[in-house]
Amino acid sequence: ATPVAVISGINRAAKSGIIIKTGAAIEQAARTQVAVFDKTGTITHGTPVVEKIISFDGISSEDILLKTASLEQLSSHPIASMIVQKGKEKFQKLLEPESFREIAGAGVEGRIGSDYILVGAPSIFENTGIDILSNGVLTDTVKPEGRMVAFVAINGKLSGAIVFGDEIRPDAKSMIKKLESIGIKKTILLTGDATSNAKNISEQAGISHYEAELVPEEKVIAIKKLRQEFENVTMVGDGINDAPALAASTVGIAMGAKGTAISAEAADIVLLVDKVSKVVDVIEIGKRTISVAK
Ligand code: ADP
Ligand code: MG
Repeated sequence: ATPVAVISGINRAAKSGIIIKTGAAIEQAARTQVAVFDKTGTITHGTPVVEKIISFDGISSEDILLKTASLEQLSSHPIASMIVQKGKEKFQKLLEPESFREIAGAGVEGRIGSDYILVGAPSIFENTGIDILSNGVLTDTVKPEGRMVAFVAINGKLSGAIVFGDEIRPDAKSMIKKLESIGIKKTILLTGDATSNAKNISEQAGISHYEAELVPEEKVIAIKKLRQEFENVTMVGDGINDAPALAASTVGIAMGAKGTAISAEAADIVLLVDKVSKVVDVIEIGKRTISVAK
């Protein structure tokens, strides 16, 4: 594309709330072969409302909520904010954690009083000896719903789960359809969430492939693998955990309106409007730009 075409493309994009940082990005976006999406906050709204708290093993759901909410006060993940909100509605005062550690894109751990609490996605329980999948109560209650879930272990024993509702964005399905109609070969959902929910959300959105239970580094590996197969891999994400994958893709697009500054920093393109359908506009503006006579 000519410099004039690129500048006019960047201009046109800016007018509809799309910030394209470089001329190269607009041309690469036009040539997108595979579009990869993060789940939480990108395909879904990213405001996971607590729907249900499951507890067993003699522990009450109040206890699960109190301990988990107390620990999550120190995390800024959307899941954490919603658990804390729920905890504060129920209890006047949350407890102060004795220790705290966040494992990016997987969950949190720490001490509340004399209890050691571990909260998060299936990946956080790997190598802990805590088997979340063989627990009949949990799988029966949670799996069929294909919901987003944070599992809760107390002192090395699975004690409960918090089930969230996070709806897909209203424009997600039509966006995927449109991408396919303009020649995008493959659409992929990458998520740290459990497989059952990844399947559920990708089916709802019409996304052709999914990979679940990935920690942020595994999202990067997935992107790198795709880049060996395809020249132009476009990734769309919103969260702090998505920055490495955005940086590893040919073109990284950040949901900027509600997403983190870190993902916007790592991206080549930032959507200032909170609509995932803007991804189609990006590619279409790119296509027009490169088709302008040289
Ligand atoms: P996605 O890949 O869908 O955008 P994230 O990478 O943000 O999701 O998180 C992946 C999963 O890790 C979540 O579904 C959740 O189960 C778990 N998780 C991440 N952070 C936390 C946290 N602070 N508390 C509990 N669970 C968390
Ligand atoms: Mg996310």
